[in-house]
Amino acid sequence: MRKHRIGGGGETSVPARGGDHSLLAVRLLAGALGTTYALSLLAHAVGATGVLGTLAVGGKAVFLVGLVGLLVGRALLAPQDRGAWLCFAGAVAAYFVGTLGYELDSRRLPVVERPAWFDAGFTAFYPLVCVALFLLLRARVRRLTSSMWLDGIVTGLTAAAFATAFALAGSLHGRGGSTLVIVYPIADLLLLILLAGALAVIGRGAGANWCFLTGGAALFVLTDTVYAYRVVQGTYEVGGPLDMGWGIAFLCFGLAACQAPRAGGTNRLDGVRALVVPGICALAALVLLLLGYAHESDALAGALAFGAVLAALARTALTFREVQGLADSRRQARTDELTGLPNRRSVFEALEAADDRLAGGRGVAVVVVDLDRFKEINDSLGHAVGDALLRQVGPRLNRELREDDLLARLGGDEFVVVVDDLDAAGSLALARRLRAQLQRPFRVGGMSLTIDASVGVAIGPEHSVTAEELLQLADLAMYSAKATRAGVAVYDEERDGDGRHRLEAVEQLRRGIADGELVLHYQPKLALASGVVDGVEALVRWQHPSRGLLFPDAFIDLAESAGLMSRLTSTVVEMALAQCRLWADDGCLLTVSVNVSPSNLVDDEFPDEVAALLRRFDLPARALILEVTESILMEDRERAVRVLSRLRDAGVGVSIDDYGTGYSSLAYLAALPVTELKLDRVFVAAMTGSSRAASIVTSTLQLAHALDLVLVAEGAEDQATVDALTSLGCDVVQGYHLSRPLPPEQLRAWLRERQAADERV
Ligand code: C2E
Ligand code: MG
Ligand code: MG
Repeated sequence: MRKHRIGGGGETSVPARGGDHSLLAVRLLAGALGTTYALSLLAHAVGATGVLGTLAVGGKAVFLVGLVGLLVGRALLAPQDRGAWLCFAGAVAAYFVGTLGYELDSRRLPVVERPAWFDAGFTAFYPLVCVALFLLLRARVRRLTSSMWLDGIVTGLTAAAFATAFALAGSLHGRGGSTLVIVYPIADLLLLILLAGALAVIGRGAGANWCFLTGGAALFVLTDTVYAYRVVQGTYEVGGPLDMGWGIAFLCFGLAACQAPRAGGTNRLDGVRALVVPGICALAALVLLLLGYAHESDALAGALAFGAVLAALARTALTFREVQGLADSRRQARTDELTGLPNRRSVFEALEAADDRLAGGRGVAVVVVDLDRFKEINDSLGHAVGDALLRQVGPRLNRELREDDLLARLGGDEFVVVVDDLDAAGSLALARRLRAQLQRPFRVGGMSLTIDASVGVAIGPEHSVTAEELLQLADLAMYSAKATRAGVAVYDEERDGDGRHRLEAVEQLRRGIADGELVLHYQPKLALASGVVDGVEALVRWQHPSRGLLFPDAFIDLAESAGLMSRLTSTVVEMALAQCRLWADDGCLLTVSVNVSPSNLVDDEFPDEVAALLRRFDLPARALILEVTESILMEDRERAVRVLSRLRDAGVGVSIDDYGTGYSSLAYLAALPVTELKLDRVFVAAMTGSSRAASIVTSTLQLAHALDLVLVAEGAEDQATVDALTSLGCDVVQGYHLSRPLPPEQLRAWLRERQAADERV
C-alpha cells in the first residue's frame, strides 16, 4: 500500500532572476505552505478534529499544489532549464493526483486494492522526473563522450549495487511482501542511479541544484525502503514521522528549483586523476563482491557490482588512451612542426623553469641564433628549399650542445639555445661554435647553399635575473651582431640598451642623418667584356656615436617605418654624386648606383631633386643609376612608373635590384623604363654548384639581352663564378671576389692598384 509521502515544511523559493519582490513574495508563500504542511502533520499526530481535522487532511494537498505552483513559477521566471522545471512540476502534479486518489479511496473503501487507478499518478512521477533530469543534464553537457557515459555507468551501477545489497536485500528479502511496495524503492533507486551518473558526468562544481536533487532522490530511496519494510511488517502508520521523509525529499526538489542556474560546461578531472571516481566505485563494488553478494540469493547486487567493475575496467582502458592522446597533443603543441625542435611555447616554459635556477644562484645563458639573408633563399629558391635548409639547422646546432641544453626554434629563421652554468667566456665560445656550424655549406636538393648567422648572447644573472628578459637582451645582442656584421655579440647595456627604445633610436637616426653620421662605402662593378671597372654601388653605413659602424640591415627598416627614408636617400644621392664629382676631377669616370626605397618612388618631387643635384655637381645623368627592388613596384605601381619614367627620360639609369627574389612579374619589365637587371646573389652564389641555379642565370641573361638590358650579377665570391658568368656572356659582375664595399679613399687606392697591375700585364 502506498500512501501520501509528504512531510515537513520550510522555505522554498524561485531563483533571484525573478526579481527581488517576486522572489520575496514566492518565498513567503512557500514558507506559508511549508508551515501549513507541518501543522497538518501535527494535527494528524494528535488526532485533531473540526477545523484542525480538516487541516490535517488538506495541509498536505495544499503543500503539493503549492510546490507545483512554485515549479511552474520557476519555469516561467527564468528561461534557462524551463522545460526541465515544467516536467518536474508535471511530476509533482502526477504525484499529487496519486495522493488524492489514495486519500479518496481509503475514505470510501475499507481496504484499498492495489494497484489502483491512482497508482498511475505515482508511477507517472518517475518518467517525468527522468525527462526533467535528462533536460537538465543536456543543458550542462552539450556532447556526451564515451568516458562520460562510462563514468555515469560505473557510478550508477555501484550505487545500485550498494543500495540493492543494503536497503532492499536487508529489508525485504524473504518477507514476501506486495510486489508494489518493492517497485517504488526500485524506481527511486533508478532515479538515484541516474543522478549519480549525471553528477559523475558533470564533475566537480555541478552546483547546488544537482546536490539537492540527489539528496531528494536519496531520501526517497530511504523513505520508500523503510515504508516498504514497515508495510510488509504491518507497522506502517499513516501521518507518522516517516512521512516527513517524503516531505523533505520534495522540499529538496523545491530547493533545487530555487538555485540560480549555472552556465553550461563540465569540470571533470583530467588525465589519470579522471580515474579517481571510477576507481573508488570499482573498489567499493569489489568489496561488495568479496562480502559474498555474488551468490544466488543476492544475485542482483552481485550482478550490479560485477557490472560496475567491468565498466570501471573499460573506463580505465579509455583513460589510458585519453592520457596517451593528451600527452601526444601536449607534445605536438610544444613541438615545431617543420624542424621537430621544441617551439616558442616550450621556450617560454623552459624560461620559466630557468627563472627558478636563476633565483637559486645558478647561471643561465640564452643564445639567439638568426640566419642571415634566409628570406632571400626562401623567396628566390622556393619555400621547399628554405624548409629543407631549416630542417638541417637543428642537427647542426645540436652537435655543439649537451643533452641538458635546450635548442628550440623561436620562429622563422630564429633559433634559441638555453644553457646552464656557462660564464661569459664559455657562452661566447659556444656562440662562435654554433655560428661556425652554420657557416659550412648546406646541401639541399643537389644544391650547395652557404649561409651565415648572427648570434646574440645574454647571461644571467649578470644581465638580468629573469630568463624572459635574457631572451629579449640576447635578441638585441643578435641584432647588434647582425648590424655590425660581427657575427657574434654578447649583450652590452651601453651598446644595445638603446635598442630597447625604438623612439629613441628614430631620434638618433634623424639626428645622425642631419649631423653627417651616414657614410658611403662603394663596391666596384666590373664590365666583363672590357675588363674595366666602370661603376660602383654606393652602400650606406651609419657611423653611430656609441654603437660603431652600423650596416643597412640595422637602420633601413627603421628609417622606412619612421618616415625618414626620403631624407636618407637625398643625403645618400648627394654624397654619392659629390664623390663621383671628386673621382671625375681626379680623372676617374665612374657611374654610381644608389639604392632607393619604395617611399622615394611615390614622391613626385624626387626626379626634380635628382636633376637639381646632377646640375649642382655638373654630372651627366648617365653617371647615376638608381636601384629599385621589385617590391617597390608592388606598392603604388602607377605612380612609381611615372616617377621612374621622368628619371629615365632625364637620362638616369634604372636598375632592378635583387632580381628574382621579389614578386617577379614579367609584366612590369615591359611596362617599366628599366636599363639594367641585377640578378640576386642567391642565384649567382649557387650557380657553380647547381645546374638549376645556372639555368636561372642563363635564362635571365637571355631575357635581359632580349629586352636590351644590361645584366649585372651580384654576389660573385670566387673566380669560378666570375669565369662561369664570363663564359655565359654576363655584362657586369659585382661581388666580394672583386672587392668588398670600400670607403672612398680605399676604393681609389684599390682602383689605382688594379690599374697598375693591368698596365704591368
Ligand atoms: P643590395 O643593394 O643588394 O646591396 C648589395 C649587398 O650585397 C651589400 O650589402 C653588399 O655588401 C653585399 N654583397 C656584395 N657582394 C657580395 C658578395 O659577394 N657576397 C655577399 N655575401 N654579399 C655581397 P649591404 O651593403 O649590407 O647592403 C644591404 C642592402 O641594404 C642593399 O642590398 C640595399 O638593399 C640596402 N641598402 C644599402 N644602402 C642603401 C641606401 O643607401 N639606400 C637604401 N634605400 N638601401 C640601401
Ligand atoms: Mg643594390
Ligand atoms: Mg642586391
